[in-house]
Parts: sequence; structure tokens; C-alpha cells
Amino acid sequence: MCLFRENLISSRLPKTLYLGENVHRQMDNLWDKTASDRRERAGTFALDMDGNLQLVNIEIGSATGVNTNLDVSEDETFVGTFHTHPRPLFPEQISRGFSNSDMLTAINDGEKLSFLLFSSVFLLIQPPCPPLIRGTFLFKRKVWLQTEDDVFALVRTEKTPLSISRRNFYREFNILMNQYEQFGFLREEALICTNLDLCEKYGLAFYRGKAKNKLEVVYKP
Ligand SMILES: [Zn+2]
Repeated sequence: MCLFRENLISSRLPKTLYLGENVHRQMDNLWDKTASDRRERAGTFALDMDGNLQLVNIEIGSATGVNTNLDVSEDETFVGTFHTHPRPLFPEQISRGFSNSDMLTAINDGEKLSFLLFSSVFLLIQPPCPPLIRGTFLFKRKVWLQTEDDVFALVRTEKTPLSISRRNFYREFNILMNQYEQFGFLREEALICTNLDLCEKYGLAFYRGKAKNKLEVVYKP
């Protein structure tokens, strides 16, 4: 049975996440297209009448964004969204993690699952980390080496609020990014730490994996 038929309870979330062969094949195809033309792709996860997860409403965006279409048909149930980030064209472009609007819409649109596929070229190396920074928990837990074609997923739990203020959330996001960058983290590292700090604050679980593979849980609230 598909995990996303029920409301998700943090303590009962699985260690690994796999969305089924069909959905992964569709996402892999969209990822291949993004890798070749550097335009974002998006789709919407929905449960069909039999409770099987589908990826519908495929959209093509630009190098820096894509609109999602959240309308599903009457006999389907909305679950969440998928999108890709191409390799950045300029260093400031956020690519290897969820942007502020990615996280905000995951919360405010009622997504149970927000799935992101992107390409990374940097190695993440465990830095020393001052105890003042909240994201320290990440570095105590696990630090990973990134290679190509990473997948991150946010999963809503019973601890996730239904709606939050966009202004406050964007402000928090910027403050965290600045803190990590001032401490000397690469922008990619700062982004992942910021994502994880905000998962902790807003009760979202965080999974990570490689394209074409199942994901493993990194953080449960
Ligand atoms: Zn995005």
C-alpha cells in the first residue's frame, strides 16, 4: 500500500523511501531532459482510485524555475510535487537543495511529499562546527560526500504546520544561509544546513538518495 494514503507520523516513517518503478522511471526521464537542456521540470504526485502513486501534470520551466500545476482529477488525491534543478549557470544560483519558495510551498500547499532532483559537483567535507549554530546536529549525525544526480525529499509529518508566513520564513531562510556562509561554509553546504534546520523547526522529515535509487532518511522531526 502506498505510504501516502495515510497521514504520516514521524515516528512511523520508514528508513527508506521508494516511489515505485513507474514513478521513478518518469522522474529519471524528466531528469535526463533537464540535464540536457538545463530547464527545470516539474510534476504532481497523486494517488489514483486504487491508491497507487502517479506522477501527473508534467511542466517545463526555465533555468531558474518551474510552475507546478496542483490540480488533480476528481478520482485522484493530491500528494505533492516533484521538480528538478539544473546545474547552475552562475555561482549564486541555488541548485543543490530546496530554495526558500520550494520549502514554503511544500508546507503551505499541503504537500505530503516534495521531491527534488539536482546535479552536484562539489564534495561536502565535514567542517568543524561551532555549537551555536543549530545545524550542528547535521554534522554530528552524518556528513556525506556528494556526487552526481542527488535526490532530496521533504515529507510532511504530524508536526508540520498547515500554513506559515512567507515573509517570516524567507527571513529565517536568509538569516540561516548568511550565518553558515559567514562561518565559511560553501553555499551548497549552507543550503543543506539551512534546509535541515528548517525541517527541524517546521516538523518535516528529510530523505536523500541518488537518482534511480531509493532514498534514505537523514532527519525525522
Ligand atoms: Zn526548486
